[in-house]
Amino acid sequence: MSTVVTGIGELVTHDERFTSDLGVVTDAAVVVEDGRVAWTGPARHAPAADRVIDLAGRAVIPGFVDSHTHLVFAGDRAEEFEARMVGRPYDGGGIASTVAATRAATDDQLRANLVRLVAEMRSQGTTTIEVKSGYGLAVADEVRSLRLAGEVTDEVTYLGAHVVPPEHRGRERDYLDLVTGEMLAACAPHARWVDVFCEPASATAFDGDAAREVLLAGQRAGLGLRVHANQLGAGPGVRLAVELGAASADHCTHLTDADVDALAAGTTVATLLPTIEFSTRSPYPDARRLLAAGAVVALATDCNPGSGFSSSMPLAIALAVREMRMTTAEALRAATLGGAQALRRDDVGHLRVGACADLTVLDAPSYRHLAYRPGVPLARALDLS
Ligand SMILES: [Zn+2]
Repeated sequence: MSTVVTGIGELVTHDERFTSDLGVVTDAAVVVEDGRVAWTGPARHAPAADRVIDLAGRAVIPGFVDSHTHLVFAGDRAEEFEARMVGRPYDGGGIASTVAATRAATDDQLRANLVRLVAEMRSQGTTTIEVKSGYGLAVADEVRSLRLAGEVTDEVTYLGAHVVPPEHRGRERDYLDLVTGEMLAACAPHARWVDVFCEPASATAFDGDAAREVLLAGQRAGLGLRVHANQLGAGPGVRLAVELGAASADHCTHLTDADVDALAAGTTVATLLPTIEFSTRSPYPDARRLLAAGAVVALATDCNPGSGFSSSMPLAIALAVREMRMTTAEALRAATLGGAQALRRDDVGHLRVGACADLTVLDAPSYRHLAYRPGVPLARALDLS
């Protein structure tokens, strides 16, 4: 069955056929057939279809691609957030409490939380989601997390190297052997990506040498690479990500000139997570420096119960504009096309002919309202079923 979505006041396509910024078409229509975009252009030229949906002047954008989330967990860390807001710094140490709660939860409890969060994201316009493990940190618990993540997305990431779990403290070498050996072998069939929290500044995360081991082992097991890099301080994460051809280096909060040059020259996307700086009261990444150098920038939420429990891509966009001085157009591009590039996907993040028909509707006349009206629930994924 074909559907024509018409009455679109402003349509963002990222299609170079339309010469405007972001491939914007006004008074537009989209024809969808078999779950794919079959036609876009001015509504007055739209071909006939079996069904008509009239959006009465609302804007339509490509669904958000949230390329970095941690949605498989149990427990609540609101107290930790409140402590940070009155001055306690964030060091990644609270992850252990989520690990304990996650291990203690049943499959059904984890699944219910995961499904609820995915629905929450969709109701805010997100249509593609990457989900990491990383709160199991034992073979069976990591496999379970990845299996559950695979029920809601194909973009599943093995993050056994999130932190060294409490039972391995003082025996970090043993844990690294587990993460790159038995745990990897059990997890690789359930994942597309491997990730590592490369953060020498954290007592529980991994330094550059350990991160290299994790990534190379994952690569040998057929996984694509992603890195949590340079969140708490300058370090080797970003350059390691670029050197190994990782799809994405995530956080990029503390960058040297060499890091920026490496990102600009390589194929690794710089994924910025401003809801984390918001929720940890930390300095924001320097998006303008990355854009000026020519790096590809993505925006994602990093939704997790500890360092930032927001599922909202519109909030990430508003923060990128207000706090990181991106234009609204740059922020929207980063939240759609940028996220798709960070997942090495060419079928999402845009509305060119042939793309997945992931349309997000705004209760507003223009995408500009995403930053202009912060905190207002304007975006939702359009249900075409
Ligand atoms: Zn993360």
